[in-house]
Amino acid sequence: MRLGSYVAGGWHRGDRELQPLRDATTGQVIAEASSAGIDFEGVLAHARTVGGPALRRLTFHERAAQLKALAKHLTELKEEFYTLSFATGATRADSWVDIDGGIGTLFAYASRGVRELPDARVYVDGEVEALSKSGRFVGQHVCVPREGAALHINAFNFPVWGMLEKLAPTLLAGMPAIVKPATATAYLTELVFRRIVESGLLPEGAVQLICGSVGNLFANLSGQDVVSFTGSAQTAGRLRSHPAVIGQAVRFIAETDSINSCVLGADAAPGTPEFEAFVREVVREMTAKAGQKCTAIRKALVPAAWLEAVTDAMRAALAKVVVGDPRREDVRMGPLASSGQRAEVLARIAELRREAQLVAGMTVELAGAEAERGAFVAPTLLVAREPVSAQRVHTVEAFGPVCTLLPYESTGEAMDFARRGEGSLVASVFTADDGIARELALGLAPYHGRLLFVNGDCARDSTGHGSPLPGLVHGGPGRAGGGEEMGGLRGVMHYLQRTAVQGSPTTLAAITGRWVRGAREVTTGTHPFRRALPELTIGETLYSAEREVTLEDIERFAHLSGDTFYAHMDEEAARRNPLFGGRVAHGYFLVAAAAGLFVDPPYGPVLANYGLDRLRFAKPVRPGDRIKVRLTCKSKTLRAGKGYGEVTWDTEITNQDGEVVASYDVLTMVSEAPVGGA
Ligand code: NAP
Repeated sequence: MRLGSYVAGGWHRGDRELQPLRDATTGQVIAEASSAGIDFEGVLAHARTVGGPALRRLTFHERAAQLKALAKHLTELKEEFYTLSFATGATRADSWVDIDGGIGTLFAYASRGVRELPDARVYVDGEVEALSKSGRFVGQHVCVPREGAALHINAFNFPVWGMLEKLAPTLLAGMPAIVKPATATAYLTELVFRRIVESGLLPEGAVQLICGSVGNLFANLSGQDVVSFTGSAQTAGRLRSHPAVIGQAVRFIAETDSINSCVLGADAAPGTPEFEAFVREVVREMTAKAGQKCTAIRKALVPAAWLEAVTDAMRAALAKVVVGDPRREDVRMGPLASSGQRAEVLARIAELRREAQLVAGMTVELAGAEAERGAFVAPTLLVAREPVSAQRVHTVEAFGPVCTLLPYESTGEAMDFARRGEGSLVASVFTADDGIARELALGLAPYHGRLLFVNGDCARDSTGHGSPLPGLVHGGPGRAGGGEEMGGLRGVMHYLQRTAVQGSPTTLAAITGRWVRGAREVTTGTHPFRRALPELTIGETLYSAEREVTLEDIERFAHLSGDTFYAHMDEEAARRNPLFGGRVAHGYFLVAAAAGLFVDPPYGPVLANYGLDRLRFAKPVRPGDRIKVRLTCKSKTLRAGKGYGEVTWDTEITNQDGEVVASYDVLTMVSEAPVGGA
């Protein structure tokens, strides 16, 4: 089978310089790949002139809906992906991380897109910056999609997740992507990609695929493009120093090698739940995906006193791991992705053995497979008995089922060993002592993108050392590449340009679609609560009548709510309070009284008040003060297909002197159709 590249709206099959791709277990050639003959300048142009404009015409919510539809579509087809995935050496459990994990990331971004981004094409970042005393000149940051192409270069180990975890934030941001899978396992990426194209769910040009080399694509990159790379530090270094990347300041995100650590706390003696969870985790990380995970544990740091206990427990657990043909149900660990990787890992083990001794591995009986044909490496456990002078354990990444134990004498020494990785994706700590956890967190955080703390309370629920999650940052400083993927909206921001916009509040409201204080207010003569969501305009404002706050109000509210705090009930004590100097109204009474002033009681389009945001009590209100309310429609978002949407109301309560005593956003659900009585 010759793999296709999907470029400029059609499938291209190179017929020169073909690279054979082999089944990892049998060594049989199952596909060939070549990108020879592709017009790479044309690929970039197609993304920039066809895919980009089509995506940018959509709102964040519309793009989120496409991701969700795509995730559902791929879910229906996933058995086909699982079947082909065996060829990569993955067991069914390994493929679950790759295939279901990838689809799950699409779902997660679809849902975040609707919840955390507006139904608009501009994302407003942060609060309004006051730039003048009068309030007539303000600033605001906005984010819009970059107008170039996002080039995704992926590693061979997760052919599906690697593609989807990058596509989800990119497409949600509104940027078209060019996917370049690692050639060794590109056949699985190509199959999933083919199903994406066939679905017709994405606009033409939103995604393209290059199987094989990327030719002269880098030379044609521009300042609007983004490169997101996963692979070796060496390749990342070469690509990020490409003259076009430097000259055009192309945004470059990299996830590279990582010597991740797992620490057994000094308190976690043999027999404790933390000790057992630690052994389970290290063994799982060594064998899942045959250790070909950028997040896998490469160094296990254990208190010197328990080195033998840990070694024995791990040796016993590793002896139970059945290695062989991943298609067999009893097999827990398959081969590496290719014989090239096997040679690479064996060379790295040899390097590590110059300063660490073998305690398990090198030979293993294979279930249903032949050692000469498949890319098998036995789960290999080493121990560095002179960890202070050891160098290679901190710099050599054997990208396979390989881990080195390092005994440590103090928590400070464990921290030092972990930091010697010079920047890693993740470190985990197994301890029931929160003092140890805090000490290690502060010392390890500058050197890691993610930290996992496991104790007996959370061991069962832990998502594990090696699992990047859509809501949490995946990336790390230094050796790990310096990048940051996923992390919820943080991952989307790479594909957006953040721009500071200055002007009058009314101009800014027009640009962002969100009312800001000082912008023009709209009055219609109709109570805004009588208007359905499509009829409401941004800036529509209601000024309420006035109400006096009496001592009786305060006492009745205190007894009704049970809040008889001295500041409301005890004049003598309240006088001693330096902020109040006497009895004041409850803040919550003011919020409730304000609602009494601004609501329109009869049945109507407002369906619910689902919360308040940004509530601040700015000044005390005393008996005899008179309050009134301004309520302004700040933003509105229709939930497609639901018949209603969210409306946010900027709200201020002022006193008889015009001073703001409380301000907040009222969050409501408002019907799309005009309902209710007159
Ligand atoms: P690699 O050689 O650097 O390859 C990674 C990707 O870069 C592949 O798609 C590869 O394509 C492509 N590539 C290579 N040379 C290129 C060039 N001149 N121009 C454009 N693209 C180029 O990495 P590897 O050795 O296959 O992968 C293993 C390494 O990846 C390990 O060190 C591991 O730590 C790292 N990794 C890191 C993460 C992470 O998230 N941090 C995840 C997985 C793997 P071809 O396959 O066509 O050469």
